[in-house]
Amino acid sequence: MSLQFNVLTLLREPIGSANHHGVEGDVLVDGTRQHVSGETTFLRTQDGVLVTGGLAGERQDICSRCLRDVSLPVEIEIGDEYVATVDAQTDAKLAPPEEPEALRIDETQTLDLQEAVRQAWTAALPLRSLCRQECKGLCSRCGQDLNESDCACPPEADDRWSGLQALAKDMKGS
Ligand SMILES: [Zn+2]
Ligand SMILES: [Zn+2]
Repeated sequence: MSLQFNVLTLLREPIGSANHHGVEGDVLVDGTRQHVSGETTFLRTQDGVLVTGGLAGERQDICSRCLRDVSLPVEIEIGDEYVATVDAQTDAKLAPPEEPEALRIDETQTLDLQEAVRQAWTAALPLRSLCRQECKGLCSRCGQDLNESDCACPPEADDRWSGLQALAKDMKGS
């Protein structure tokens, strides 16, 4: 299985014809190879093929709080129409799609899902990776992993309140 499909046969079928494809392959995201797999439906449309489906993968990262290696599940949905550039019956070149950004099926009738998967993967990434939601992280002073045990550092003063206290004193004084 791969992320590239020859859709010549489907393009020769009437509009509304559909078939299912298992999808599996690697995409390069920010220089790292990521593996995805899933199920998709290819639907013949007026102008080409609409691909819908759900894919999943796992991303290797480090927890932004405790710096442990983590493996995080990534789930992505795709739903894109790929516009044919060559007529499947006559081999004649078709007029380019009106939308310059449109995804295209190439001259060999190959439909390549890599770019859409890469974009969906990037969009699905959280801003910060955590090994788990309640990770306590490392002590900012001694570096102790607070998930394993507490450290001996005194609790940090909370700066948000000291500002308010100073303000309250000022108001009393005036
Ligand atoms: Zn963590
Ligand atoms: Zn500490």
